[in-house]
Amino acid sequence: MTTPARLTVLAGPTAVGKGTLAAYVREHHPEVWLSVSATTRRPRPGEVDGVHYHFVSEERFEEMARNGDLLEWAVVHGRAKYGTPRRPVEEVLASGRPALLEIDLQGARQVRETMPEAFFVFLAPPSWDELVRRLVGRGTEDEEERAARLATARVELAAAAEFDVTVVNDDVRRAAEELVSWMGTPVPTTNRD
Ligand code: 5GP
Repeated sequence: MTTPARLTVLAGPTAVGKGTLAAYVREHHPEVWLSVSATTRRPRPGEVDGVHYHFVSEERFEEMARNGDLLEWAVVHGRAKYGTPRRPVEEVLASGRPALLEIDLQGARQVRETMPEAFFVFLAPPSWDELVRRLVGRGTEDEEERAARLATARVELAAAAEFDVTVVNDDVRRAAEELVSWMGTPVPTTNRD
C-alpha cells in the first residue's frame, strides 16, 4: 500500500547541515513550502524574524504549546525550545503543496505519532570526523555549547534506522536535490513498524 508523500520531515544530528539544505531548497525549489519554527533562542547574526524562525519569549512559547498551536515541540540541546506552528502546516497540506519540516529528532518522533503518513528523511554526515569539523568550524557556539551539541549528535546518529530514507550530506546541492526528489515519492507504508 502506498500514500502520496506531501509532508516531509527532515531530521539529523546537529551541524549536519539541515539548515543549509533547507536554505538551498528555499532558494531553488519555490514549489516546496518550508515551515518556519518558533524558538525561544536568540537570533544569530543575519537571522530574520519570521523568515528563519519566529523568535518568541518563553511565555509566548508556553502559551502556544498550551493552546495546542504547535504540531510538535522540543527542548533542543537542553537549552532553547523549538516548535512547529500547526496551522500553517495544515493549511499548506490542504492546498496540496509539498511541505518540509526541518526539525530535531524528538520532534520528528512526535510527528511520526500524529502524522504517520508523512515521509521521514534522515540527513547523515559523510563521517563522524566531518560532523565534528563542521560543528567546530561554524564557530557560533562556545565550548560548553559545542560539547552539549556533540553529545546530542552521538545519540541522534544512532536513530537513522527509524527513518524512511537516509540522505548523506556530502554536497549540499546533490543532497538537496535528492531530498526534493524523495518528496514526490509514494511512501511504502508496509515497510514500517
Ligand atoms: P539552530 O538553533 O541551530 O537553528 O537549531 C538547533 C536545532 O533545532 C536543529 O537541530 C533544528 O533542526 C532544530 N529545530 C529547529 N526548528 C525546530 C522545530 O520546530 N522543532 C524541533 N523539534 N526542532 C527544531
